[in-house]
Amino acid sequence: MAEFSNATIEELRKKAVEFSDKRDWKQFHNPKDTALALSIEVAEVLEHFRFKTNDEIKEYLKNPENKKEIGYELADVLHFILILAEETGIDITKAFYEKFDELEKKYPVEKCKGKPHKYTYYEKKY
Ligand SMILES: [Mg+2]
Repeated sequence: MAEFSNATIEELRKKAVEFSDKRDWKQFHNPKDTALALSIEVAEVLEHFRFKTNDEIKEYLKNPENKKEIGYELADVLHFILILAEETGIDITKAFYEKFDELEKKYPVEKCKGKPHKYTYYEKKY
């Protein structure tokens, strides 16, 4: 699996698009249904953690099968993020970097380090 760890977002996007194209599934990838699919896949990730305490989750993650299943659900989430970006004409890599530029401004390290609050908390405090 290590050979995949350096894959770029563009390589993953191509893989997802090729998968759909081979199956003629682009016809089903309108933004609404793709966004719904993304939400459903996120819910499938959440199912692994529902009704468990943090300690129980730690134990749960020690089982490689559980970890593998969560990984597959995360892959489903990423798959639909890539398809939704494709269908809406959004450059997800550009959006990601732009968003992090915004986050850097909202959450300056000197104000936020080690603190869990939303950015509005820091605006009021400083
Ligand atoms: Mg799934």
